[in-house]
Amino acid sequence: MTKKIVFATNNRHKLEEVKNILGKKIEIISLQDIGCEEEIPETADTLEGNAELKAQYISQKYNIDCFADDTGLEIAALNGKPGVFSARYAGEPSNSANNVRKVLYEMQGKENREAQFRTVICLVENGKSHFFEGKITGKIAQKPTGGNGFGYDPVFIPDGYNKSFAELTTEDKNRISHRALAVKELAVHFDNNNR
Ligand code: IMP
Repeated sequence: MTKKIVFATNNRHKLEEVKNILGKKIEIISLQDIGCEEEIPETADTLEGNAELKAQYISQKYNIDCFADDTGLEIAALNGKPGVFSARYAGEPSNSANNVRKVLYEMQGKENREAQFRTVICLVENGKSHFFEGKITGKIAQKPTGGNGFGYDPVFIPDGYNKSFAELTTEDKNRISHRALAVKELAVHFDNNNR
């Protein structure tokens, strides 16, 4: 029988993206499916810490294997910021347009525009944490372009492209994205462990 695993997210798009990559090998269920409607703590100061907090919290409380992800945009000239603070970089409540504006303001006059998106997944299996990572490198644009995607997509130009993430189709972005790469690492783990 396929074992069920919770993906600790309320984001439908992420759930679909992850299900597509992991295929039918494992049954992925959502927080909604286990009746979890609460705010899960995200108070760590690293992506690894936050992913583990979320996955361990659900796993312990609901006695089920679980994985959670956390993503940040890490900009070299800003010493890795906004990083773990990406969602609320311009303050609460989370607002992507304001976050993008703040990044462009802080990048004014910076020659080095190198950046990367990094996703960390923590899988809690039988109580033990396992970590998986996906990264994509690129540059911060001088101004926002494109209307697809979300978050910092309009100002992130992946290496090897001359378009921002927001100018790529969802399919093209999902093929190369940080999150997809991390989920592929997770899929390799499941394959090696005969899920
Ligand atoms: P989360 O950990 O996936 O919730 O991501 C934290 C924040 O990073 C989000 O609120 C977005 O601002 C940003 N972010 C995460 N993934 C992406 C992406 O694929 N494109 C653009 N921004 C992203």
